[in-house]
Amino acid sequence: MLGKDFIVEALRANPDTRALWDAGFRVRVGVSACLAGEPVRYDGDHRLATLVARMLPLVAEVVPLCPEVAIGMGVPRPTIQRVRLADGREVVRGVEDPALDVTQQLADYGKQVAAAQVFHGYVFKARSPSCAPGNAPLVDEQGVQVGLAAGLYAEQLRGAFPGAPMCDEEALATVGQLSGFVQACYRHAARINRT
Ligand code: SF4
Repeated sequence: MLGKDFIVEALRANPDTRALWDAGFRVRVGVSACLAGEPVRYDGDHRLATLVARMLPLVAEVVPLCPEVAIGMGVPRPTIQRVRLADGREVVRGVEDPALDVTQQLADYGKQVAAAQVFHGYVFKARSPSCAPGNAPLVDEQGVQVGLAAGLYAEQLRGAFPGAPMCDEEALATVGQLSGFVQACYRHAARINRT
């Protein structure tokens, strides 16, 4: 496949990343499961990101995960959002039912995933209150948007793997962008292998 050849050629052009690739090492990259085409969204749909789903597995070990399903919310499920409370705390709770608070469950699950395996990169779903790398709407208690935030699950992963490339699917719309991301994952792996 041409795209794969392009990515591998770039990996082999750098001595650090070439050594890993030629030794058969593959970076481990987490992916929001809906981007891999799994029907795990709140409405039972997916958000297949073709390049991420089809090409990334050719050059990396891909681990698709859906935190909202993993914490038992099911499919279909109520929608949730990131909310800044009047006392300044930020929570994740139901849009229709504010009593549905999954803040602790999402944080715990993120810590559990991070403790179980090393990720050299992560592709998150844009704007998700659980998965977004930094562009989920943050609303106040009245539902008025007051800013942007990372998804709560994504926040745990970012904290656990400092320096690992993390972005959303919108930043990986071309083979060139995907190649840049993959190079960065392998450079990160080379760096942490040396330390
Ligand atoms: S954005 Fe995250 S929580 Fe939402 S469906 Fe996709 S993987 Fe699941």
